[in-house]
Parts: sequence; structure tokens; C-alpha cells
Amino acid sequence: MSQSGADVLIVGAGPTGLTAGSELIRHGFSVRVIDSKPSPSRLSKALVLHARTMEVFESMGMVDRVLDTGERFVALNVHTHAKRPPVRIDLLKRNWHDTRYPFWFSIPQCETERCLVEHLESLGVRVEWGTELRELSQHGNGVSARVTDASGSTQELEADWLLGCDGSQSRTRELTGIEMDYRPYGIEFALADARADVDLGTGEGHVFPTKQGALMIAPTPTEGLFRLIAHVEKGAQLGIADWAKLVFERTGLAFDIQDLAWHSHFRLGHGLAQRYRHERVFLLGDAAHVQSPVGGQGLNTGIQDAHDLAWRLATDKRAGGAEKLLDGYATERRPFAERVIRYTSRATRMLAAPRAIRPFRNKLARRFLGFTVLQERFGRGIGMLDSRCGGSETLGDFSRPWVGRRLPNPLLWNGQRLHDRIDDLRHTAVDFDVVDDLDGAAAWPGPGLRFGEGGLPDPGGVVAGALGARPGERWLVRPDRIVAEIGEPQALEAKFFREIGCPVAAL
Ligand SMILES: Cc1cc2nc3c(=O)[nH]c(=O)nc-3n(C[C@H](O)[C@H](O)[C@H](O)COP(=O)(O)OP(=O)(O)OC[C@H]3O[C@@H](n4cnc5c(N)ncnc54)[C@H](O)[C@@H]3O)c2cc1C
Repeated sequence: MSQSGADVLIVGAGPTGLTAGSELIRHGFSVRVIDSKPSPSRLSKALVLHARTMEVFESMGMVDRVLDTGERFVALNVHTHAKRPPVRIDLLKRNWHDTRYPFWFSIPQCETERCLVEHLESLGVRVEWGTELRELSQHGNGVSARVTDASGSTQELEADWLLGCDGSQSRTRELTGIEMDYRPYGIEFALADARADVDLGTGEGHVFPTKQGALMIAPTPTEGLFRLIAHVEKGAQLGIADWAKLVFERTGLAFDIQDLAWHSHFRLGHGLAQRYRHERVFLLGDAAHVQSPVGGQGLNTGIQDAHDLAWRLATDKRAGGAEKLLDGYATERRPFAERVIRYTSRATRMLAAPRAIRPFRNKLARRFLGFTVLQERFGRGIGMLDSRCGGSETLGDFSRPWVGRRLPNPLLWNGQRLHDRIDDLRHTAVDFDVVDDLDGAAAWPGPGLRFGEGGLPDPGGVVAGALGARPGERWLVRPDRIVAEIGEPQALEAKFFREIGCPVAAL
């Protein structure tokens, strides 16, 4: 432990930094979390948490806190034609049996952050508000950071690692000389949280991709408060009357707005840091990737970055020599963000398509979104359940479709789910119908599950079916529930772990 009294210094107490703080404590680190803001934010910004993030919160032990604070989205209605009923995507009737959280969850970002702050405090750490990172330098086994605190005095903090979770204008990124190539789209959106006396159906979201421009109306957990997001002309500033007029022009609805709880205007674009790591400094969340808010992926991706990095640092702390696992953070998470950027960018350009092609776009949308199978893919895709990280030396054979993806989470015979049986700190071996007793070489030194004869029951082959597992196979699942490798027990250890560089028993 360094002089500052913490193994890890976390710069930024947005959703990413707060998740990183709690996760690292869970993995046995001491942390300090600083933020330049004088106090927690009250802005509602990101409104959607996705299924994959809810699973992360579950493994952190704070999902109930979040579930108590928000509401499920019931449906998304896409109004492709003014005179025809919308295409309705019922988000509660999707075929998502492999997760405990088969929904999109509406909760303002400030509430998500409040839950995270409370969780962090329950683990014994308070955010140091009003404390700003100014300078940093790296030496041998640590990082020195110069910060100014709320009283204006300067302190030198020492830590083994520094995590830059300081948002899109990241000072950490600047100080480590990592470039972010930012690409503006030349598209502007206005946003407002509007209190209005209108009935749009409980939990029902609406998209109006009209000739005049797109408008989204999303429910919030507060009754009578709606999130409005509109594609607007460059530089447009909208007050209450302008919003009411815009909504009427694009939807025909008399939207009687009483008050704007929050409103903002932003220029869309994306950016990706060229590197995610500089020696003992990592970039996470918006500091590493900035994307369009369409699809609500930014906050979710940041939380998942933090969850991913924490177990890698923990393995390195426990076993040492986990350099490849640490590098795997960048080689896996950066391509993940790249894909998020690609599809949010496409979705944004589609919503803001040039006027001439808007009728054609709407016809196509109506046709495709009408198919149940495509609705399914759309819902799960945005829910981040089927996303895949980039390949790395610490993941196995990428020709196996599940490697690098989240382990499905089907119900077990006893009412538990598969994820409940996966270890939170180490790799778990899940074996299917391994007939013979495993010899020493094939026995897994860490936590393991065995389905089939002589092992756990899998009536009707529900678990094996959900995974498409073949008899005799071993699935190695990381603490973040990502499938690391699949193969025969005898072959897998030798093939997969030869390269990792830290003792298998530590994983
Ligand atoms: C209008 C809007 C709607 C959005 N909707 C969604 C959505 O529905 N779903 C979704 O997933 N995402 C959404 N996003 C994106 C989401 O808000 C961001 O991706 C998310 O806030 C990123 O979290 P973060 O913790 O990485 O960074 P931030 O939330 O930006 O937090 C960074 C923190 O670092 C602090 N900081 C900065 N510099 C320093 C320094 N030098 N020293 C100390 N502290 C510092 C800041 O004060 C801040 O608290 C939306 C964004 C906007 C603007």
C-alpha cells in the first residue's frame, strides 16, 4: 500500500468511478475516490440501465437498491406513419429466459449514482468531493498524483494504480498523452425532462421518426415526467412553448408542458481513446470512449469497463505476473466500445437521416421491426446481453461462438440461476456430462460445477440446451460471467493457460 493509504486512486465519481471503487473493495483493495465536483450531480442524463448492467449490479450486491428506485420500460412504440398504428415492441414479453432482468430499466443517472455512492459508503469509503486531479507521474511500481482539495490546498497522493474515470474531457487522458480522435456528426439534439399532463401509457416509450425530424418520448420513474429528445436545427434553443410546439408538429399531441425539470442541447459525435492503458494508469468509461446517447449505451459500457478491470487487477494482486490479463482489459474492452460506437452512430444517422430519404427509412423500419425475431434481436442487442468483447491472449478459441460472450443465465432445477453458482472472484469450470472421473491433470484447481451423471441435475437438459454445450465439454467462466474458453478438460488447461503467465490456481 502506498503513502496515500490506498492501493488504487480513482479519479472521477461518475457511474464508472463509483463502480470501480466498490468492485475493487470487494476484491480486497483499498481505494480513494476523488471528484472535482463539489457534490454529487443532480442531472438525470442517462435514463436507461440494461440487463447486462443489472447483472453486474447483482454480482456487486446492490441490484435491489437500484430496482427499488426505477421502473421497467413496458414497450417501445415506433410511429412510422402518422395515420397508422405504431409498431409496438413489447419489452416485457420478450423471450429472454436466460436473464433475471429481461427488461430495459428506466432510472435517472443521478439516482443510479446515488445508489452507487450509498453502496460505496456501505463498504466504508466516502467520495472526496471537490478534489481535482492536476498532475500525475509514474515511477517503478506506482503513480504520484497532485490534487487540489476542497479547501484549495495541494496534496501529493501515491497509489499503486490510478484509474481515470474522469469523463469525456479526461485530465488523466491528457496527462498520459493518450489521444482521442473525436468525430463530430454535425447533428444536434435537444433534450428536456418535461412535466406534462398527458397519458402516453405507463412505461410506454415512443419514437416519432417524422418528416420534420425525429422525436423520442420516454417515460421516467416519476409520474407525469417525460424525457423528450428531438433532432433539431443547429443552435436551436428550446423553451417550454417551443417544446410544446415541436411535439405538436411532430406527433399531433397536445403536450401540455407545465415545467422543464432539466433541459440541454448537445452536438453528437464519437471518440475512442487510442490506448486504454499507460503503464499503471487505465482509462475507463467516457474517458476512454464517447458515443451518441442514442440506445443508452455510454453509462452501461462504463460500468461494465469497471467491472471487467477490477477482477483483472485482483488476480494480479493475488498472484502477480498477470500482465497479459491486465493488457486484456484494453484488447477486449476497446473493440467492444468500437462496436458500440459503430451501431450507435448508425442509429443516430438513421434517426437524423436527410429529409428526402425519411419516408423510405420509415417504410423499411416498419417492415423490419414488425418481425418478432428482429424485435427480439433489437431488444437483446440494446440490452447488451449478446455483446462480445474483442479477442485477447487471455480468452480462448474465438471460433467458438460463446467465447468472449456473457454466459447465459438459465434457471436451474432448484430455482437458482446458473450465475448464482459462478464464483465472483475466480474462474469457474462448468463441466457437462464428463463421464469418467477427472484425473489430476484435468481436475480444475478452482471453483467448479458439474452437470450430468454423478453431478448436478439438469432435467430436460435446460442448462446444456441454453448453452448448446456438448457432452464432455468444460466451460471456463470468468468472475465477470464472460466465457473464457470451451474445450475438453484434459486439453483446455494446457492450451489456454500456457500463455497467461500467472499460476492457474490463482484464476
Ligand atoms: C443527455 C444524455 C443522455 C444520456 N443517456 C444515456 C443513457 O440513457 N444510457 C447510457 O448508458 N448513457 C447515457 N448517456 C451517457 C452517460 O451519461 C455517460 O456515458 C456517463 O455519464 C459516463 O460515466 P463516467 O463515469 O464514465 O463519466 P462521467 O459521468 O462524465 O463522470 C466523470 C466524473 O469525473 C469528474 N472529473 C472530471 N475531471 C476530473 C478531475 N480532473 N479530477 C477529479 N474528478 C474529475 C467529473 O466531475 C465527473 O463527476 C447520456 C449522456 C447524456 C449527456
